Amino acid sequence: MAEYQSPWVNDDVRMYRETVRQFVAREFAPQQARWRSQHRADPEAWIKAGAAGLLLPDVPEEYGGGGGTFAHEAVVIEELTRAGVHFGSGIQSIVAHYILAYGSEEQKRRWLPPMARGALVAAIAMTEPGAGSDLQAIKTSARRDGAHYVISGSKTFITNASQAGLVCLAAKTDPRAAPMRALSLIIVETAGLAGYDVGRPLEKVGMHAQDTCEIFFDAARVPAANLLGAAEGRGFAQMMEQLPYERLSIGVSAVASAELAVAMTARYAKERRAFGKPLMDLQNTRFELAQCSSESHIGRVFLDSCIARQIAGELDATATAMAKFWLTDMQCRVIDDCVQLHGGYGYMTETPIARMWADSRVQRIYAGSNEIMKELIAWSL
Ligand SMILES: Cc1cc2nc3c(=O)[nH]c(=O)nc-3n(C[C@H](O)[C@H](O)[C@H](O)COP(=O)(O)OP(=O)(O)OC[C@H]3O[C@@H](n4cnc5c(N)ncnc54)[C@H](O)[C@@H]3O)c2cc1C
Repeated sequence: MAEYQSPWVNDDVRMYRETVRQFVAREFAPQQARWRSQHRADPEAWIKAGAAGLLLPDVPEEYGGGGGTFAHEAVVIEELTRAGVHFGSGIQSIVAHYILAYGSEEQKRRWLPPMARGALVAAIAMTEPGAGSDLQAIKTSARRDGAHYVISGSKTFITNASQAGLVCLAAKTDPRAAPMRALSLIIVETAGLAGYDVGRPLEKVGMHAQDTCEIFFDAARVPAANLLGAAEGRGFAQMMEQLPYERLSIGVSAVASAELAVAMTARYAKERRAFGKPLMDLQNTRFELAQCSSESHIGRVFLDSCIARQIAGELDATATAMAKFWLTDMQCRVIDDCVQLHGGYGYMTETPIARMWADSRVQRIYAGSNEIMKELIAWSL
């Protein structure tokens, strides 16, 4: 097959990819085993990533970002995925886009430049022990008291939490309002904040290098000026508007991961011998790999159309839900088949395909589970 070129990759994006690839290979890939054991990246990694231009690549330069498009964000996600690196820069971008979309000029100038430099790490906190898919069930409360919100409650499964100096928090500002108007997004600056606490990193099945923790609020006082948006009660609508960005980012990593699994497994099947010949000489191996390669390429072409539409500002929430659901299901199918073709070595944690298998499983669960994605798609019919 002639080499396929993603239509959104131009010379500028190609050059950016080269910079990102070299940086990730030099600075991040060699640290992965240690990051996995400590359950997070080194704090200096954020500053290095900022200096190398990996953070907020699609945020305007006037706010410290790279001034690029979603193509640049996609490149960072792809290059991290291809190098087997877990680093929370995707969440950093997601939070930046909430601030960009709803923040006042003063808020954008205060938070985005340090986020782009890596001096301020961001997390987004929606999920609670009793509210995941059902965001309207959020209980964390933000009660107005003079010039502050008094915040109480807890959040769970929060990525980047242990290092986050800024948390974009979904909380109930009006418990009497209709569920869709009860929530607001408030930016919590965590440094020295009384009544704010972070739990130990949660023990996950995969993605060990990425920190995921619970966070707790006990009457923490946050300036009322940290509300995102001109009025309270817009949090649910803001999340619905911004979640597609997160879901498309997950689609990008899903395809990059499936492509990597196919390439790795094809190599392995040519080297590994059984019954006196390479695994690749067995028709089942060829058929399985042909199936995986076809599915990941179909995924790539659909993803590329979504990326192009996102860059043009034309991507709708339904197509993004399709991308999140189908691409992550495909990723898990492909990687599972690739594990099978690796035999027992595919189940050993030191084998990259085994880690990819464990890492991929959550893609079908977070950022809106794939069942929720199907509900969203069905609503459009
Ligand atoms: C590693 C990891 C990182 C995460 N990072 C973050 C983060 O940074 N910030 C954050 O806020 N959250 C984060 N999450 C939380 C994640 O978004 C939630 O786990 C996810 O939304 C599902 O919510 P839940 O776990 O409460 O499952 P539940 O909502 O309890 O769902 C359980 C099952 O029921 C199904 N289900 C629920 N409702 C419906 C329905 N209406 N129709 C059909 N099926 C349904 C679900 O699909 C699922 O299969 C993270 C989770 C993980 C595991």
